[in-house]
Amino acid sequence: MTTSYETREHDVLIIGAGGAGLRAAIEALAQGASVGVVCKSLLGKAHTVMAEGGIAAAMCNVDTADGWKPHFKDTMFGGKYLNNWRMAQIHAQEAPDRVNELEQWGALFDRTEKGAILQRAFGGHTYKRLCHVGDRTGLEMIRTLQDRGVQLGFDVYMECTITRLLTDAGRVTGAFGYWRENGRLIVFKAKSIVIATGGIGKAWPVTSNSWEYTGDGMTLAYEAGAELMDMEFVQFHPTGMVWPPGVQGLLVTEAVRGEGGILRNKNGERFMEKYDPKRMELSTRDVVARSIYTEVKEGRGTEHGGAYLDISHKPAEYVKKKLPSMYHQFKELADVDITKGPMEVGPTCHYVMGGIRVEAETAQSTVPGLFAAGEAAAGLHGSNRLGGNSLSDLLVFGRRAGLAAAQHAKTVPNSNVSEAQIAEAERELLAPFSNPSTESPYAVHRDLQAVMQSLVGIFRTEEDLKKAFAELEQLKSRAAKASVEGSRLFNPGWHLARDLKSMLTVSEAVALSALARTESRGAHSRIDYPKYDPVWAKKHNIIVNEGGKMTRRESPVDEMPPDLKEFVMAE
Ligand SMILES: Cc1cc2nc3c(=O)[nH]c(=O)nc-3n(C[C@H](O)[C@H](O)[C@H](O)COP(=O)(O)OP(=O)(O)OC[C@H]3O[C@@H](n4cnc5c(N)ncnc54)[C@H](O)[C@@H]3O)c2cc1C
Repeated sequence: MTTSYETREHDVLIIGAGGAGLRAAIEALAQGASVGVVCKSLLGKAHTVMAEGGIAAAMCNVDTADGWKPHFKDTMFGGKYLNNWRMAQIHAQEAPDRVNELEQWGALFDRTEKGAILQRAFGGHTYKRLCHVGDRTGLEMIRTLQDRGVQLGFDVYMECTITRLLTDAGRVTGAFGYWRENGRLIVFKAKSIVIATGGIGKAWPVTSNSWEYTGDGMTLAYEAGAELMDMEFVQFHPTGMVWPPGVQGLLVTEAVRGEGGILRNKNGERFMEKYDPKRMELSTRDVVARSIYTEVKEGRGTEHGGAYLDISHKPAEYVKKKLPSMYHQFKELADVDITKGPMEVGPTCHYVMGGIRVEAETAQSTVPGLFAAGEAAAGLHGSNRLGGNSLSDLLVFGRRAGLAAAQHAKTVPNSNVSEAQIAEAERELLAPFSNPSTESPYAVHRDLQAVMQSLVGIFRTEEDLKKAFAELEQLKSRAAKASVEGSRLFNPGWHLARDLKSMLTVSEAVALSALARTESRGAHSRIDYPKYDPVWAKKHNIIVNEGGKMTRRESPVDEMPPDLKEFVMAE
């Protein structure tokens, strides 16, 4: 029997208030839809706010030889051709318009001498392509989108966590959740739902990701019948802080290398000469992360187990102007003045290329009425994302998701939600208060992170991945028994007990896909299969929920049209 809950109704419900969710909301509003935006944290606090380096878009303000085609080619090369080519094409073609639009809505960018939006170099991008505001681009983007959305009039539900999607005859009809502050229940009725919940990094202990990144959106979609795709591709950013321990994993933006930062090992050797003499520090993230990892493993790491990243050869004022957050981050957290000496950095779990499988034009998942955009969606980045391509992804596909969701809402009748589904969602959510065991959600989370770091990390083997499965099975049964004390009033242990389910679901999906992919490609490195396999070049891993059991299938990679293929493959 369900306790009381409040009910809200919208044409389009957007779960997530980061760049993707806000851009989707703006577009759905522009189509005349009534829009609700739900987020776990306060509005303006989404993960997007942390983005530092910039937005990749071929504006051609600095390098006039750039254009959508070179951007497309770099994205496909970075993703090792596993990208959904049509998404990559749309992304490269539409990103400049989305940046210009952001500027028209009030975003302030750094400028060229002629007054155009300034663009900087970044790993894997052939031309200077990243539009930026110092190293605080995400903050400016969120501020602008938020202002615009509020002006147009969406309803915001802050500090509210969605725990289940409600469905009827195979299509989504609403969502169930709770207010984090007081634990009260809420049901949303909606004709279309956009998932924009970001990534999964909190399943690993060393991560640049914030507490919100527990894979909720992917789990909600998976449980509602959507397909997850290419979950094995988890990006370890090469440069996170390795010291002091309390901030281990915190991101050191690629903009440091974009502005000329040099990587050295403890012997002072510029080791990227060995691994990628052409691109050096601006090689793709997978290559730089593996290079640092190898230097450390072979005994050439720094005192705290990383590499040195040095920008101190640049004038101090330049560093402070271009990298203000990095300057303060190191000064305040590690007592290091980066204008005078090197930083210590090492790989950190940063981004997931896999996610909800969507259709390129509309961002619709395999479930009618359910859309996904941003880091929660798969396809654009293939096996490895280029820096800067996420912020442009949020703008391009956030807009498309909002547009298609609003159009879909016009075609379906008002939603009916199932009381039985609501009762089941409530039972599951409240179970930790009545579970008889003493299992702590914090202990389960700590052990999950240890398993993912040691067995499903930057380098993988069949033996480790099989061990990971056995461990994940045990963790799942421990998580199901997790119990919490106290009331529903802001109770972080209870919130974590709920988030564990999502983290375990996405962890299993990553391990299952990683075991199957018997090759190394992009961010997926198998020590036992170190080379590309042409057979796997043609296949995506698909994860589906079959009667409550996680099952893996394969699906062919779409062929690029011949003219694009010829351009992309040309030297
Ligand atoms: C430190 C850092 C720097 C980065 N720098 C760059 C950069 O310079 N350029 C670039 O392109 N990319 C960068 N990235 C990556 C990029 O920031 C992210 O991929 C992107 O911001 C994700 O945006 P999003 O809209 O998909 O999700 P987010 O911005 O994370 O938003 C997710 C939203 O979903 C909500 N949510 C989650 N679960 C639930 C739930 N169950 N119920 C309700 N709400 C929920 C959250 O509260 C939040 O509002 C960086 C990442 C990090 C960590």
